[in-house]
Amino acid sequence: MNEVLASTLRNAVYERLDYLDRLVNEADLPSRASLADSEIARMTAAWRNLLAKHEPDYRGRCRECGGWRRRRPHPCSVWTTAHKNLIVIDSPKTPSTGRHAAASYLPSAG
Ligand SMILES: [Zn+2]
Repeated sequence: MNEVLASTLRNAVYERLDYLDRLVNEADLPSRASLADSEIARMTAAWRNLLAKHEPDYRGRCRECGGWRRRRPHPCSVWTTAHKNLIVIDSPKTPSTGRHAAASYLPSAG
């Protein structure tokens, strides 16, 4: 993908997100309900497509991150971002600041 196409794609995605943010913040309740009906399904499908590409391989490494020679261990940044935004944001006990805040959204081992 050349630089112009990449920029156009990037701008289009940000414009769509801005549009959805405006609707969520400014639209009336029936419009927001209608928006939820269509957009939640689209967002969950998008997350599932993205996460599928970042599933670990047989060695527990991300299939997409890090290139073919040095793949990143699972969970990669896509999975930690998904966990942070889909799971942790709803959890009231999670600290959002402090020394261990960056890793606090990772699932605990125990
Ligand atoms: Zn990945």
